[in-house]
Amino acid sequence: MTEPRTPAPSALTDLIHHPYAPTAPFSAPQPGVFKASSIFFPNVQAMRSWDWKDKSAFTYGLHGTPTAYILEERIAALEGGKHCLLVTSGLAAISVVGLAMLRAGDHVLLPDNVYGPSKGFAESELARYGVSVGYYQPLNVEHCASQIQPNTRLVWLEAAGSVSMEFPDLRALVQLCRDKGIPTAIDNTWGAGLAFNVFDLDGDGSHRLGVDISAHALTKYPSGGGDVLMGSITSRDPAIHRRLQATHMHMGFGVGVNDVETILRSLPSMSLRYYAHDTAARQLASFMAQQTAVVQVLHPALEGSPGHAYWKAQCGGKNGPHGLEGAAAGLFSVVIDPRYTQQQIDLFCESLRWFKLAYSWGGPISLVVPYKIGSMRSLPEESLKPGTVVRFSIGLEDAADLQADLAQALQKAFG
Ligand SMILES: *Cc1c(COP(=O)(O)O)cnc(C)c1O
Repeated sequence: MTEPRTPAPSALTDLIHHPYAPTAPFSAPQPGVFKASSIFFPNVQAMRSWDWKDKSAFTYGLHGTPTAYILEERIAALEGGKHCLLVTSGLAAISVVGLAMLRAGDHVLLPDNVYGPSKGFAESELARYGVSVGYYQPLNVEHCASQIQPNTRLVWLEAAGSVSMEFPDLRALVQLCRDKGIPTAIDNTWGAGLAFNVFDLDGDGSHRLGVDISAHALTKYPSGGGDVLMGSITSRDPAIHRRLQATHMHMGFGVGVNDVETILRSLPSMSLRYYAHDTAARQLASFMAQQTAVVQVLHPALEGSPGHAYWKAQCGGKNGPHGLEGAAAGLFSVVIDPRYTQQQIDLFCESLRWFKLAYSWGGPISLVVPYKIGSMRSLPEESLKPGTVVRFSIGLEDAADLQADLAQALQKAFG
């Protein structure tokens, strides 16, 4: 059906089939927000032949809209990939990868410091479908090699790891999996496409060595507001993309276009924000390293932090645009001396004025979370000193105010 050229007989119908269309072209900084479940076809022949899979046409809102495609292409470019799929959260990106790449009888291997809910998905959901789950010590390539089974079909990576922030030897781990023909997927939320290129670990544009799939919680830096949940799955290999795309479609994880719009608006400032978070986080991590209550600071760019040498090899070397060596996310953890009680640690967290008690990171407001790391690990934690782990996500406030806030809370809780 073509649009009616003349007003409908009834004003009510006219409200729905109004003939007015704005004059094209319209050009402005922000792409249009195209929301749709239904998408019109000009004729039945088009309805039968149009294909959404290669983005040559639109067929149904769940399969993509111009607005969603624009964000997919930009995230693929940001991460150095070729294909990208948007999903409803970072966790959905992780679950779609597992569902697409694994079947009953397969084995999946995760680093022991992987994002916690990723373990939950593997142990509760993948296990019910007959997939077995194993863990490896993130800083120990030999341990990873020893955990690979004949039926291992997917190895996850995360750099830096969640909460304990160990930075693994990505090149050695990916090479190990390559040699054994096992696909690799990385949770790329921390690096966000800015600290290093997951598809080109040599960093020379050769793409000789890289992961097969990147899952990214756009909830964090691409959103930057602490207000939107979204995830992406990026890849370079067309066959892997097709598999991910089929599962993505079958699961029905299409995203809301208003949320896509929000991320498209934040994306141009992402690198500026990332380097600002990084600068402040390194300053505050160094400040915390000088405190007597703190026995260890976990920040991969800091000398002595677990995996620092691998961070340096992957993300360091030359100075970033902020004048610091390399790049790192604005996150770090500290281990508080075990001589202090849980009540004192809770008091420290609650005494902070600018840091709010909340999960997630990447937004303008600084956040703090006390963790019980023992209950989160499946293997002995090899990198951490005994004590209680507190994680900080550094926002965009003035770093001097944040430092003064940390100082007063330390004084109040630990004397
Ligand atoms: C937040 C986060 C996720 C999950 O993202 P959601 O959008 O909150 O589901 C996954 N991985 C890492 C490393 C994260 O920090």
